[in-house]
Amino acid sequence: MALNPFTLHCPATAAEACRLGAQYGREAAFLAGGTELLVDLRSGRRSVAHVIDLGGLTELKGIRSDGEELVIGALAVLADIAASPLVRNVLPALCETIDQMAGRQIRNLGTMGGNFSCGVPCSDTPPIACAAGAEIVIMGTEDERTVRARDFVLAPRVNVLRPGEILAEIRIPAQPPTSGACCERFTLRRGSALAVASVSAWVDLDGGSIGDARVVMGAVGPMPVFAERCAESLIGQQPGPDLFAAAGRIAAAEAQPISDLRGSEQYRRDIVQVLTARALAAASLRARGGAR
Ligand SMILES: Cc1cc2nc3c(=O)[nH]c(=O)nc-3n(C[C@H](O)[C@H](O)[C@H](O)COP(=O)(O)OP(=O)(O)OC[C@H]3O[C@@H](n4cnc5c(N)ncnc54)[C@H](O)[C@@H]3O)c2cc1C
Repeated sequence: MALNPFTLHCPATAAEACRLGAQYGREAAFLAGGTELLVDLRSGRRSVAHVIDLGGLTELKGIRSDGEELVIGALAVLADIAASPLVRNVLPALCETIDQMAGRQIRNLGTMGGNFSCGVPCSDTPPIACAAGAEIVIMGTEDERTVRARDFVLAPRVNVLRPGEILAEIRIPAQPPTSGACCERFTLRRGSALAVASVSAWVDLDGGSIGDARVVMGAVGPMPVFAERCAESLIGQQPGPDLFAAAGRIAAAEAQPISDLRGSEQYRRDIVQVLTARALAAASLRARGGAR
């Protein structure tokens, strides 16, 4: 299908991009890597009169440390994030997650800001970022605001951005040396395939037991799903296979999967059960070894 005609805008600054977004509102779409948007425009899922290309906004491309936090610019390309020593030092599980998603061509174009903003339930980077306690910095025409990553997506393909706002940064807090994280992702084939389900686990050890935990499931709900009861079941407990197997059963019950081409609801719950136990075991190992 041919693209419907649109006017392309190439702002030089984020402030100008926000102004254009506010001016054209729902008639406009921001373009980052285009790996999601261009597919949507070409397939007719979406049609807009104005496309605002964020590609020239170098201010949003970097990856840096800001005091205690790791700051990933919204326009940082997935491949660069995965290869970044800064990211690998703070949250290696994010690098591993990106290495598993899509194919090389997509990772060389797609951005983390786009992965969050598209709000697709099987997007891979939001669950691990949420598990690590990330925050999202949003830039608007008037001011800047920050929301928790877990509050950014409201429903499938719907996020908290208002007209004239762009996702500017993903901020990942310093991770305690006693913590570890891991994302386990299941696909129907190797190579470029969307996740049937994923589970991101984060644990912080307090002596020999688990002091804090977060378990976030992807592709099994309208947005990243926090398995709250699963996480609670871990607190104060000694890490071990029986505990993690039981936690997997709780997470499977908390998932909100649908049945589709990639798997039935029950299949996804079964997968979540296994992935949760694996992710928790790997996260705990990392927390113990200090090699997150
Ligand atoms: C073949 C193929 C395989 C894929 N495999 C995977 C996969 O395994 N896992 C996965 O998670 N995804 C996958 N994707 C989806 C896509 O590549 C990713 O979601 C990618 O990260 C999107 O980033 P982008 O920069 O290309 O976004 P774009 O396509 O440019 O934008 C996506 C959406 O976000 C909005 N947007 C982008 N940046 C901003 C911003 N800074 N502020 C506000 N709004 C913004 C756009 O307006 C648009 O609505 C795949 C896509 C393809 C085509």
